[in-house]
Amino acid sequence: MDEPEVPEAFKACSRNACKSAAVATLDCNYMARRVTLEDLQPDSEPDHFHLCVDHLKRFRPPMGWQIEDVRTVSGPIEIVIQPARASA
Ligand SMILES: [Zn+2]
Repeated sequence: MDEPEVPEAFKACSRNACKSAAVATLDCNYMARRVTLEDLQPDSEPDHFHLCVDHLKRFRPPMGWQIEDVRTVSGPIEIVIQPARASA
């Protein structure tokens, strides 16, 4: 099998079967019920999810969670995450 070589900085999206490059990291703090949207982190912590643009746009935090955007990278990628509705 010929896997294409990828640069070291490349990080694939955490979603199964998604081969897009991750652009940001979601840090899920289960204790605080908070999701922090960070610049792409080079780590592989179990609570960190590295998502591509498409999956970031589709991401919804669990009910009752807060979301915090602390990214310092700006540019063409504008990601607006709608908090989950409180009423079901
Ligand atoms: Zn993806």
